[in-house]
Amino acid sequence: RQEQFRALRDVEPVTKDGVRVDLKMNAGLLVDLPQLEESGADGIGLFRTELQFMIASTMPKGEEQEAFYRSVLRNAKGKPVTFRTLDIGGDKVVSYMRGQEEENPALGWRAIRLSLDRPGLMRTQLRSLLRAASGAELRVMLPMITEVSEIRAARELLQKEVQHLSKFGHSLPRKLQFGAMLEVPSLMWQLDELMQEVDFVSVGSNDLFQFTMAVDRGNARVSDRFDNLGKPFLRILRDIVRAGIRNNTKVTLCGEMASKPLSAMALIGLGFRSVSMSPTAIGPVKAMLLGLDVATLSEALEAALDDQKSVESPRQLLLRFAAAH
Ligand code: PEP
Ligand code: MG
Repeated sequence: RQEQFRALRDVEPVTKDGVRVDLKMNAGLLVDLPQLEESGADGIGLFRTELQFMIASTMPKGEEQEAFYRSVLRNAKGKPVTFRTLDIGGDKVVSYMRGQEEENPALGWRAIRLSLDRPGLMRTQLRSLLRAASGAELRVMLPMITEVSEIRAARELLQKEVQHLSKFGHSLPRKLQFGAMLEVPSLMWQLDELMQEVDFVSVGSNDLFQFTMAVDRGNARVSDRFDNLGKPFLRILRDIVRAGIRNNTKVTLCGEMASKPLSAMALIGLGFRSVSMSPTAIGPVKAMLLGLDVATLSEALEAALDDQKSVESPRQLLLRFAAAH
């Protein structure tokens, strides 16, 4: 099978009925970069910048961050890289930044919350990214956004750094794309404001599922208890895709869901045209995609999601569809 997948590396990810889907990979360290070429991914859809912080014993300085981002971009050889700003806290522990003990770290002082409360830290990171991407495209996205106002606040910090750098004659990125992760359910009731605020939205299905179903993603006792291909979650994802279309904002997904061929199939059926996954999943997902008739699947999936009577999980429909095609 591995050989078979490797043979697909240079094959365009296009479905049987001609729909192009961007297949990107998730990464966080330099050792991940060779996989970009080996997997044939279209780029890095999620670069977890906190990993540099997690493996260090002291806080990486601005120059170290810049050097690191520069090597990532150099090794990506022109393929797009989406850098997520620090997602520290919750399940991502940085030993030298431990604050007060929290009873519920997943719901605590983390990610964008921590970044906005420590603007010096965030500005250093944004400056390092801007400098590393001078003359190139810079894609930045914010983790754990709960209210659209947080995006505004982060954008102001970014603008300050842009102004600062241009005042001192530094060359800036040629293009700047600013996005937000959608992984907190409160954004579902701010979808249009959100879509208007950013260039792209990336669904973090790991956390969105955790917070929607109230199940700890790290607790094996409950993490698989509810179905991420069940009606509630697929309806949420469908609403996000629709909001993206309505507002002409790019929507992508970078959680583990994209790594499983069956759930990746569901995502494409719902209208996702870009997904990001672990690099080893690119081959299997591409193999699925090449044989997929999206139009037929979408129609069946739409009907299942509109059905108010059935309590069967759409997973069953997806399994039947996969077996029949
Ligand atoms: C997610 O929550 O789905 C996600 C992609 O981010 P992380 O797994 O790093 O929390
Ligand atoms: Mg997350």
